[in-house]
Amino acid sequence: MSLLEIYDKMDYGPAPESPAAVNTWLDEHERKFGLFINNQWVSPENAEYYPSFNPADGEKLADTVQAGQVEVDQAVRAARQAFETWSTAAGTIRARYLYALARNIQKHHRLLAVLESLDNGKPIRESRDIDVPLLARHFYYHAGWSQLMDNELSDYQPVGVIGQIIPWNFPLLMLAWKIAPAIAMGNTVVLKPASYTRLTALLFAEIVAEAGLPPGVVNVITGSSKAGSMIVTHPDVDKIAFTGSTEVGRILRRQTAGSGKKLSLELGGKSPFVVFDDADLDGAVEGVVDAIWFNQGQVCCAGSRLLVQENIAERFISKLKARMQHMRVGDPLDKCIDMGAIVDQTQWDTVDSWVKTGAEEGGEVFQPDISLPDQGCFYRPTLITNLEPAAETVQEEIFGPVLVSLTFRKPVEAIALANNTRYGLAASIWSDNINLALDVASKVKAGSVWVNCTNLFDAASGFGGYRESGFGREGGIEGLFEYLRPAWQARPRPSFEPAEASTTWGATTPSRPTLPDNGRQSTKELPKVDRTPKMYIGGKQVRPDGSYTRAVLSPKGELIGQVGDGNRKDIRNAVEAAHAAHKAKPGWAMRHAYNRSQILYFIGENLDARADEFAQRLRAMTGQSLKSAQAEVELAVKRLFTFAAWADKYGGSVQETTLRGITVAINEPLGVLGITCPDEYPLLSLVSLMAPAIARGNTVVMIPSQVHPLSATDLYQVLDTSDVPGGVVNIVTGDRDHLMKTLIEHEDVDGVWYFGTPEGSYHTEYESAANMKRTWVNYGIARDWLNDEEGAGHEFLHEATQVKNIWVPTGE
Ligand code: NAP
Repeated sequence: MSLLEIYDKMDYGPAPESPAAVNTWLDEHERKFGLFINNQWVSPENAEYYPSFNPADGEKLADTVQAGQVEVDQAVRAARQAFETWSTAAGTIRARYLYALARNIQKHHRLLAVLESLDNGKPIRESRDIDVPLLARHFYYHAGWSQLMDNELSDYQPVGVIGQIIPWNFPLLMLAWKIAPAIAMGNTVVLKPASYTRLTALLFAEIVAEAGLPPGVVNVITGSSKAGSMIVTHPDVDKIAFTGSTEVGRILRRQTAGSGKKLSLELGGKSPFVVFDDADLDGAVEGVVDAIWFNQGQVCCAGSRLLVQENIAERFISKLKARMQHMRVGDPLDKCIDMGAIVDQTQWDTVDSWVKTGAEEGGEVFQPDISLPDQGCFYRPTLITNLEPAAETVQEEIFGPVLVSLTFRKPVEAIALANNTRYGLAASIWSDNINLALDVASKVKAGSVWVNCTNLFDAASGFGGYRESGFGREGGIEGLFEYLRPAWQARPRPSFEPAEASTTWGATTPSRPTLPDNGRQSTKELPKVDRTPKMYIGGKQVRPDGSYTRAVLSPKGELIGQVGDGNRKDIRNAVEAAHAAHKAKPGWAMRHAYNRSQILYFIGENLDARADEFAQRLRAMTGQSLKSAQAEVELAVKRLFTFAAWADKYGGSVQETTLRGITVAINEPLGVLGITCPDEYPLLSLVSLMAPAIARGNTVVMIPSQVHPLSATDLYQVLDTSDVPGGVVNIVTGDRDHLMKTLIEHEDVDGVWYFGTPEGSYHTEYESAANMKRTWVNYGIARDWLNDEEGAGHEFLHEATQVKNIWVPTGE
């Protein structure tokens, strides 16, 4: 046999990692684990236990407790008690603990990696080289933020006790994304791992104690979804951080609605992997392998929708199929395998039924002819071609090693297909044309975009979704804000109970009848010219669709004006106009920030020129003194200047990740925002909400104060004279809650801000769960709009934007 023949026939031999150290550790615990509360193992009397299995061979690894209400209460109490000292300790002290934790993780690197592979089924190559190094990296990175917090984040305070719920696909990594930023910022946590993969969280808990963290800072509770629910609804938990399915995310959004708890949701995805004809095709094939077969495809940001340019599709698919024939699926502890085991038989069955659905939908299913172990939850890498874009298998998250593939002709079609999903977690773009790749990257709606690379993660770069992939970021400075609140703000604790929620919230209320004005004006004098404020939609003054009006009364009950009573149709028109303003050339978000800032300055200048008139109007509406009304107008002008200044200073930053290349965080606008304004300071509060939203490239539908709307209807004349393009600001007057409900239900509104009642805040959060709109509500708590921190802080910029991280490797 020639050397070449020997080489061709050469196969990989097994290179197994030993499970001995893990077995010793499990035996030391008699393969039975309690809950980790206050740095102690707690095993409740008569506890129920749940078995953990190795999905590669079905062998039982250990039993863990099913926590109940008593244990959840105990853990939350421990976290609350620890919060008192942990949150007030100097950041430099907390930094030392995080540093010690990072060091201890590194000391137990191998043990963690082997246990992760045994418990989850992922290849040791991945747990050893990706999951555990990233676990340590997150604690180092956040030790750094803890060190810097007192100086760099002095306008913020920790949130409190955080309930954290994580999935089974990256048990250690998800734990790191949650715990590291939370405790670095002075919070304490109660974490619940997923039921399939509880063991590494318990080993991590032991490392927490070993690193000397004070008791109660990190508590780990094992249990079912019921225990998760107990954490979510616990009154003494201040924030919920969740990673998991969109379906459960929706439940959590509803359960926490109106409670004043902060919430971040990292949910599912169906991310596009786009290959243009000028891409390095062999590189892109390897990219696909990493995108969809990494972790057996059980990756939230898996590139599970392959979009290939039509002229290379045949060649690319045949290269991909050839590569699939060489994939190695087998024992997760074998260092030479590409894919390990699916986490559990139930998940295996779900994946398999999706593949059958794909075939029923007319797809051509390809699975390579490779050998699989005789037992265990192993699944072949699968490719389904020939599907329609609307097919269920193309739209839904399969969460397994199944790739669906479509073709496109032009870049514009690729972008449309990439965005043709309810999700928005990630995207991978392959092209050697940097202009094209970056243009597509900027137009795809996703939190992470990888150019000529895929599935890259680092603690210095925030990860999170657009649309139904959730909201909030984990990693980077942007991720810290999930665990901070402004220093001036106490945890909102609205007294509103969901049980009291009205089933008719947002139904139309009849317009207030207009009071007769007869006889007030003398017939001897020329009567005043009637002035009927209209609504402002698409840059035009328009009458209300329903032709109803509402009376506006002074504090003494005198009629001082009438405004249109907006209805669903008016909102629909306003949303359409707000979208058209994005589509115009140049669209509002695509204009230079300089141009947006000029326009905001110009609004300020024109408002200032009419300051007296606005002050008189405010005085008539609210009954405040002229002096205070003048101060309100002056401050409104100042706010316009402040956000004009921010229009070109909040674009994003270069993230210092471990990638050799460039990772850029871009603060993108959400799109179309619906905003209801409070009754206090009707001009100032409206301007304080409108200005940051449009400064950062959003277009808005403003619902002014229901009782004091006239300064808003006066403002459109200022907008008209300030070069504001039609549709950027739309003003619809009428019943606040009815109009907000319509905005929430509108599929094309990207986010809603509600400043109104506790009940309205509840409904806004609850009902927005239907399509996971991002919300910002005030829980009925008035803020001091005169104060710059409360009326113009960074919070406004944060709420007006979402971070997209674009990763571009450089060099050969
Ligand atoms: P899942 O069913 O939503 O469960 C996630 C976690 O929530 C588990 O700990 C689960 O507990 C718990 N849970 C389930 N129902 C609950 C409820 N009603 N109240 C409170 N907690 C509840 O998701 P999974 O199947 O574990 O994970 C897969 C999903 O996670 C995929 O959709 C994937 O895309 C997503 N994911 C997203 C990201 C991201 O960063 N965006 C990262 C990884 C995964 P039990 O396990 O005990 O049921």
